[in-house]
Amino acid sequence: MTTVEPEHLVTLVTTDYSGITRGRSIRARAFEADAAASVGWVPANQSLTPFDIIAADSPWGSSGDLRLMPDRAARHAVRLPGAATALDMVMSDVVELDGSPWAACPRAFLKSALDDLGRETGLTLAGAFEHEFQVKGEPFPAAPAFSLAALRRADPLGPLVLAALGAAGLASDTFIAEYGRDQFEVTVGPAQGVAVADQAVALREIIRETARLAGLATTFAPKTAPDAVGNGVHIHMSLVDGAGRNALYDPTRPGRLSEVGAAFAAGIVRHMPAIVAVTAPSVASYLRLKPHNWSASYTWLGDQDREASLRICPTPTLGGKDPARSFNMEFRAADATASPHLALGMLVRAGLAGIRERLPVPPIFSGDPEQLDEAQRNRLGLVRLPQSLGAALEALDSDAVARAFLAPQALATYLGMKRAEIALTDGLDPAALCRRYAEIY
Ligand code: GLU
Ligand code: MG
Repeated sequence: MTTVEPEHLVTLVTTDYSGITRGRSIRARAFEADAAASVGWVPANQSLTPFDIIAADSPWGSSGDLRLMPDRAARHAVRLPGAATALDMVMSDVVELDGSPWAACPRAFLKSALDDLGRETGLTLAGAFEHEFQVKGEPFPAAPAFSLAALRRADPLGPLVLAALGAAGLASDTFIAEYGRDQFEVTVGPAQGVAVADQAVALREIIRETARLAGLATTFAPKTAPDAVGNGVHIHMSLVDGAGRNALYDPTRPGRLSEVGAAFAAGIVRHMPAIVAVTAPSVASYLRLKPHNWSASYTWLGDQDREASLRICPTPTLGGKDPARSFNMEFRAADATASPHLALGMLVRAGLAGIRERLPVPPIFSGDPEQLDEAQRNRLGLVRLPQSLGAALEALDSDAVARAFLAPQALATYLGMKRAEIALTDGLDPAALCRRYAEIY
């Protein structure tokens, strides 16, 4: 008699236009033995709404086949205490059967944006996604925001999450009990290039796995209730030159933004109303993007102001730390219903468009745009961001530059899927909407 041990499986994953990580598993032994191992994939999957219904308005029908081609440098594996098997995932590109890139692959989209940035400027993107999430079902006694008690009552969630991230190859940084009820935040150290988005995918799945094993359910949904504190994703970015220096930083200029950094920021601010269609891409996202929520609500570059949509972050110098090393800006109009690859790809494309046009630094504003009159806001370039997913999709569709960031088939797939998502949530009141998304994300 032989005792059956669970097979070690590797899951080849793609994080699609709905921001959901999907994939197929194969034996780790087969994966190791065949450098060209890949699994099948279906084009119409990219038209899947978060509600597991494929949008009728899709360029992809029942025909056609693709492959998920793993990037072996982007494998994140960890076996947590109490787990029956290891969580082992490899970020993969969606490719045609001959291995050439597929028009609607989010990861290929990001890689091509990064390639163009590198070719045209010699710069590499560095960055990290900062995630907020909530534990669902109020399993803990209430505790004050940011308190030690709020951290300890969730034990061992924090220590396990940081250990698991470290074991999976992410430089885990900080675990925070956040402002919202049962809300936590995890930050990780910066990565470069496509790994910035890969890390975001790995982090979400590792947190879900850790919570699952602790008997907890988590959600990254942008709002768990209309009046709840939002769960944001803040996308930190800087630019690295060929010598490894931070090319975003110039302490002599406004906002400490170098000329190229200012142009990169200006491109993002200019195209922000269109970009949010991809970075804050669910119907519920727009319950979060409101003034006075420390989220994002205007096309706004700010220096150390948490209401700004694009925030220049602080540069601590204590202990003799070099500010050039830590200097970065964070895009705050994002949440975890977005595909990290698609979201970051749009930001890089918009920043590169700003560099190509040599845009000057946008106005750097701190304060409350709601207290200004229209003329003052216009002078400062403060335009209210779209207030619904429908309006954001219109903004994307009518921004000739931003819509061209995506290949025509990719744009058609995205718009068709997102419009179907809006139709499928029709009739849900805000509370029901929040609950629906919190079940999925
Ligand atoms: N929870 C806020 C958001 O929705 C962010 C708060 C913070 O600055 O960390 O983005
Ligand atoms: Mg936070």
